[in-house]
Amino acid sequence: MAKREIVDRETSIMLDRVLEAIDLTGGYSITVNDTPAYVDAVSNVSFYARNNEVLGIAGESGCGKSTLLKILYGFTRAPLVVKKGKVVLRANEQSIDILAVKDRTSVWWKYISYIPQNSMNVLNPLQRIRDHFIETISTHMNVDRDEAYNIARDYVENVGLSKEVLNAYPHQLSGGMRQRIVIALALMLRPRVVLADEPTTAVDVVVQRGVLQMLLDKQRELKNTLIVVTHDMGVQAMVTNRILIMYAGKGVELGATNDTFENPLHPYTKALIESLPRIGDKTLRKGLAGHPPDLINPPPGCRFHPRCPYAMDVCRREEPPIIEIDKEKFVSCWLYVKR
Ligand code: SF4
Repeated sequence: MAKREIVDRETSIMLDRVLEAIDLTGGYSITVNDTPAYVDAVSNVSFYARNNEVLGIAGESGCGKSTLLKILYGFTRAPLVVKKGKVVLRANEQSIDILAVKDRTSVWWKYISYIPQNSMNVLNPLQRIRDHFIETISTHMNVDRDEAYNIARDYVENVGLSKEVLNAYPHQLSGGMRQRIVIALALMLRPRVVLADEPTTAVDVVVQRGVLQMLLDKQRELKNTLIVVTHDMGVQAMVTNRILIMYAGKGVELGATNDTFENPLHPYTKALIESLPRIGDKTLRKGLAGHPPDLINPPPGCRFHPRCPYAMDVCRREEPPIIEIDKEKFVSCWLYVKR
């Protein structure tokens, strides 16, 4: 291949990586018994999300997935601290180093948006829904209040909501409706990347499907990137193209979702998938024994070693490297290191 072609191919691969996390390390500064301490929530995590894909982030609660999402968004307020790493967002032919941007409101909503956990509670109870929309539109578009209202009305109808909801206060709407409003707000400015933290946990099972469908429909329409954090592996299987598995602040496996479910590599991923119920299979599913480690004082070596049935001496001493097993299939485990 001619040099020029190689350069062009590499450039297009990089541009396809709309969001790239490079060696992200962060956690919480807290106080334990009057002594300052640090909880290592996200440790040396690197991955990328492509244009026009749904990427899932999964793992037990407390594994750092929600903290990772906050760091990706640049929502880094105390007690959360980022110790090192970079988040690169590629949009509109620009490369934006999110953590280095001083005024992050210049990239939020327009290029990257965030649907927080329990997002229904982020709506101001004293404001009508229309004021939430008008505020967002007026901040990012040069329009007056009437025009902003017209844009909001057309938009809510476009996402399948009645324009009547604009006159309601948040408490007058059901939980599912409030969640849809928050999602609609997050997607309104057509961001290239949408981060959704447990978007369905606060709504009942019937509403869950509608909320997920709305997220997926908009992702397909905008051809943007949706990153979904959820511990619900059923949701992961249903909506994501690729999946990052996290354990105790570490990214332990990354690959295509189908392949990860059919052929999990990391012992933790295997345990996670083996514990899932299967249609027609009445045998008792095995849960994973033990507990995740204390992240104030994580174990040395592989953080999974106290619970891993395959743990070797090296696992207790040294952190496993990240290995590319196949094209875009990564795992961090000593079992796959040729020695
Ligand atoms: Fe288990 Fe060792 Fe692999 Fe960690 S590195 S998952 S302890 S085999």
